[in-house]
Parts: sequence; structure tokens; C-alpha cells
Amino acid sequence: MTAGYFILANGGGTNSTAMLVGLHERGMRLDGNVFADTGDEKPETYAHLAHVSDWCESVGFPRVEVLRGRTPQQIKDASLSAECLRLETLPSKAFGFSSCSMKWKVAPQRLYFGQFAERLGVAQSELTVFVGFDADEQSRIERGRAAQNPTQQRYLLDEWGWGREECIAAIARAGLTQPGKSACFFCPSSKKHEILALRRDHPELLARALEMERLALASDKNRAVGLGRSFNWAAWLNEYDAAAVQGQAFLDAQLDLFSNAGIPELDCACGAAA
Ligand code: SF4
Repeated sequence: MTAGYFILANGGGTNSTAMLVGLHERGMRLDGNVFADTGDEKPETYAHLAHVSDWCESVGFPRVEVLRGRTPQQIKDASLSAECLRLETLPSKAFGFSSCSMKWKVAPQRLYFGQFAERLGVAQSELTVFVGFDADEQSRIERGRAAQNPTQQRYLLDEWGWGREECIAAIARAGLTQPGKSACFFCPSSKKHEILALRRDHPELLARALEMERLALASDKNRAVGLGRSFNWAAWLNEYDAAAVQGQAFLDAQLDLFSNAGIPELDCACGAAA
């Protein structure tokens, strides 16, 4: 590996975990390991990060360092959901934009990279950030390569030819638990089966998401249809429950129909944002 400093932009999910395993298997060095936290991950993600931190320490890597938004208002809000509830709005992804990610994920990391370089008295160009897009995500990698960054960026999973399957296998090889998807629990990019899983596993978080949606729709400053960008979570759950009385087969058909209703899949690359 060339000289300089190496930092993992840890998204808390499969790709980042696999990248840690690959780095260790190749005897590569890691100087920083940072996770930008919106304050709204699902509990499983926080538990996984703690588990991965212990493993990192056991192999001589830095533990995961959690970064938070540092503006005075972000410190006051403490989470993206609190900001949305205060402003009676939805995360920008629900309107087709990515400023929620820029503000709560990218900005804290960039601040960290700047401070990291300053602390060591080096230019940011001496830092290499490992970004967790895998070999199956070429369009994201191309967009990342085209972006201007003060740090260098490397897409190790792509360099190693690791797609999803190889990442899962690497995590299993290291004896680590497989992480779930890391994203805000209310992310407008959520698939419909993920909304149902949120209701099953974390009804209190679903209630917070639905309250965010209700407040935003009641506010005349928003033109959103709902948290799903093209659909309303609460209305869809009601339709789903109404379909439930017609039996499981009908329900499955409805879920399939709703999930493939020509709604473009939203691209949430937050886990690997840097
Ligand atoms: S996970 Fe979704 S809601 Fe959260 S910051 Fe990223 S795009 Fe926005």
C-alpha cells in the first residue's frame, strides 16, 4: 500500500463489514474507521457497530468512531428525525433530493477528514478514504470517481472483485454476524417489505415515522405525497391491512404488486457516502 493515511467510511452494513475483513485478510493498515450517525439507525445497526468495533480492536484496527452533525442546530436536534418533526417536513429523499445525506452523513465525515489531516499536519490529499461500493455497483462507483474530493477515494470491494455474495462470504469467514441494511428507519428509499418489518420489529419507530409523515402532510409548506416519495406509508399500510382479510395469497400478491408498481427504486447510497 502506498504511503499516507487510510480511513474507512463505515456505513454500518454488509459492504463496510466485508471491507474490514478484506483489509485484515490482506494485512492492510487502517488509521481511521468512522460511521456518520443521523441518530436514526435501527437498533440492530447500532448493535452491529458495537460488535464490529470489538472485532476491529481484536485485530488491531481502530474501533468505529461515531460522527454526529456538528452545527449548533444539529446538536440541539440530535437526530434527523427530530429535525424533520421540528420543521414539520420529511427527509429530502422524499422530495427526490439528497441533502439529508449531505448534511447528516457527508458533512460530518468531511469535517472529520479535515481535522484528521490538520492534527497530523498533512494535506487532505494524503488521506485515502475507503468507500464501500461493491463490484455490483458500477454506476455508483463511476459517480464517486467523477466527484471532486479533497481526499483520495478507493473502492476496494471493486478492486477485489467482491460483489454482494463475496461480501457475505467474507463476513461469515471472519465469524462476524451479518448486518442488516443500514439506513434511517424512516428512509424514503425503504422497500415495502422493510416497512412491514419495521412495524413488526420496532412499532415505536414506525409510529415516529408515521407521525413525521402526518405532520409534514398537514403542513402546507410541503408538497410530498408521503414518506415513500411516490406513496404514503400510512395509506399503504391501511391498504395492506385491508387486503389481509382476503387471505395470505392475496396479501402476497398485493405486496408484490405494490412493490413493482412502476415506482423507480430510490437510490440511497448513504451507507457508503463519504
Ligand atoms: S438513510 Fe435515507 S433518510 Fe437517512 S440520510 Fe440517508 S437518504 Fe436521508
